[in-house]
Parts: sequence; structure tokens; C-alpha cells
Amino acid sequence: MAVVYLDNNATTRVDPRVVQTMLPFFTESFGNASSTHDYGAAVAPALKDARKQVQALLGAEFDHEVIFTSGGTESDTTAIFSALETAPERNEIVTSAVEHPAVLNVCQNLERTGRAKVHYIGVDGAGALDLDAYRAALSDKTALVSIMWANNETGKIFPVAELATLAKAAGALFHTDAVQAFGKIDMALKDTAIDLLSLSGHKIHGPKGIGALYVRKGVKLSPLFRGGKQERGRRAGTENVPGIVGLGAAAEFARQNLAEDFARMKALRDRLESGLLAAIPLARVNGAGGERLPNTLNISFDYADGEAVLHKLDRAGVAASSGSACASGSMEPSHVLRALNIPPHALQGAIRFSLSRETAGEDIGKVLAVLPEIVANAREKSPLWAEVRPPQVA
Ligand code: PLP
Repeated sequence: MAVVYLDNNATTRVDPRVVQTMLPFFTESFGNASSTHDYGAAVAPALKDARKQVQALLGAEFDHEVIFTSGGTESDTTAIFSALETAPERNEIVTSAVEHPAVLNVCQNLERTGRAKVHYIGVDGAGALDLDAYRAALSDKTALVSIMWANNETGKIFPVAELATLAKAAGALFHTDAVQAFGKIDMALKDTAIDLLSLSGHKIHGPKGIGALYVRKGVKLSPLFRGGKQERGRRAGTENVPGIVGLGAAAEFARQNLAEDFARMKALRDRLESGLLAAIPLARVNGAGGERLPNTLNISFDYADGEAVLHKLDRAGVAASSGSACASGSMEPSHVLRALNIPPHALQGAIRFSLSRETAGEDIGKVLAVLPEIVANAREKSPLWAEVRPPQVA
């Protein structure tokens, strides 16, 4: 059975053209970039090209502002630790309550160990950041603000350019986890006051285990990995050349069709959203209103158990997710949906559909065809549903 893959915020299929670009760097051009012989010299231009391709998709001013890392998690950790190290007179971090665990867990650990005080800014019912609380949290003690560009669960886009300007006025560094936004929306980074930005290859049809940290020219970086002089001494360790080349190629393909892919994904997502809202009573979109990623739909079906719905969807040949991939598996409702203050009977029924440029109209048609009955069956298992079911719902 052909599977409809709608879990692209968890990871994407590597574009076969990306694989082709990577292959020679495992076999023919396998050299270590630091070697002085021809094998080393052969890979240096490929690293340079990849850096420029990532720079172009970011809209950054200089290619040397891009440091290759092992992915979003390493980039987030590096940014947070570096900010505390380079501003020893400041020991506070401002972040949001809806960050990915790659940021939240680092912050919580710094708090537990007494190394930093952390302000977690809340969101409203639509997932928008509490700007008053954000302004109030900034002070001359703030070392770093770390607020994601777009949320992985709801797709909500935060006004990072505006937030960065406010952080700058308080003398703080501004970091954004842009793992979900990179490659989906136009970034024009050089026109913002953003100092640090994390991105990852596997969310944009590139390989896993490769990403980058953008560090604006002039911003001091305290490396997380110390050792060799790779990445201008800012990230030690022999470069993952095939991964870097793959990330560069993935960034290039994303950049070439950014506007078209955005429009196509958005049209399909909107069709899925309106189709489900029309076909399934007591359904609600989580994080609706305001700007959202074009590929993400987080939708709750009141009184239907999300895990049961996902399981049935899986058996019908549709792969989606409940909450974030990292949180599923445990039955805890996601911290993001809890921060949105969604009522308990909707929390358990949240499903995330995330599209990619490979998603086809038939994929959406299939979900619209199978999901109403799956939700109806799941609701039958809920004792509460019998009490609350509206009379017009079968
Ligand atoms: N940040 C966000 C918003 C993510 O969605 C993810 C991955 O799910 C990460 C960070 C972690 O990135 P990586 O898997 O490259 O470590």
C-alpha cells in the first residue's frame, strides 16, 4: 500500500538529487579538508559552495557567518552556552514556553544547576507570543533571547525580526531556532538584528546529522567543541563533507522554488484544513490565526483519542503525528498544546499533518476520504462523547 507521508516536520525524504550530489564525497572525493595533499584540496571548494548555498537561502550577508554543525540540537546548545560564556556579567535567558526540547531542556538544565535564570514567555490561545511579558522580561541582565522562528507543532510564526530589535535595545544577543522555518519561508536575515540562528538539513530534504549555526559577523562565539581548527576554530571535528554538500544542495533546491513551493503547500494545507473542518464536527485548528508555516496543520477532534486516530490512520496508509515526534510515544499531552490552554477533551485528540513540496493533491484527498470515519469510531470509545455528542452528529 502506498503510504501518504504527512509528517515532514519530523523529517523529510532526502531528495534523490541531493543524494547524487553527496555520493562522490564518500568514494572519489573522500579527503579530509584539512589535508594539504590533493585529496584535501579537492573537497575545500565543495565546502565553500555549500556554505554559499546555505548563506543564499538565509539571505545572510557573508558566507563565513555559517558554521556547519551536526544539526539543530547542536546549534541550539552552542548558541545558548556561548551567549552565557561571552557575557559573564549577564545571567538571564528569555525564551518561550513552546520551544523545541533542544532549547527548553538546555534552559531547564541551566536553571537547575544555578547557571542562569530563565524567563519562559507564554502564548495566547492562538499560539501568539505575549509581547508585553516579553518586553517586561528583557533587562540589562539578559544574556540571550532564544525564540523560535516557527513552531514545529502548530507552524505558528513568531515576529523574530521585531523581537530581535527589542533584544538588541536591551543589549542582549538574539538567537532563533529556525529549524522549521528554514527552506519554507523567505528569511532575508541580513535585514534583521538576529545574531544567531539554528537550522537543520533533514527538514529540507537533506540528510540527517547535519545542520548549521549562523553567527552574525562581529558576534563572539565560544565554541562548544574545542579541538582542531575546523570552521575557523568555531566548531572542532573533521567536517562531515558528504553531509555538508548534501545540506548545501538541499538549500539550493529549496531556494530555487521557494515561492512556488510555499504557494502549492499552502493551497494543499488549506484544502485539508477546510475539508476536515467541514466534514468533522467539533474539530478545531490549534494555533490558527496570524502567520503560520504553509505546510503545517495541527487539528484537534474533541473527545477522540489522538493516539488511536493516528494508529488507524497509519493502518489506512497515512503517516502523521500527534504533538511533536519527540513527545509522542509518551502519552503526555505536548507542552506546546498545553501552553495554548486547549481544553483537556481537545488536547488528547490533536493531530499534526505536515506537508512537503512532494505532497500531492491525491494525498490530501486520501486523508479527507478516510479520516471522518476514523474520528467517528474513535469518539465512540470515549464515555464522555456519549454525553456531549451534539444531536445532529451521527
Ligand atoms: N528545533 C526544532 C524546532 C525542531 O523541530 C527540531 C527537530 O525536530 C530540532 C530543533 C532538532 O533538530 P535536529 O534533529 O537537527 O537536531
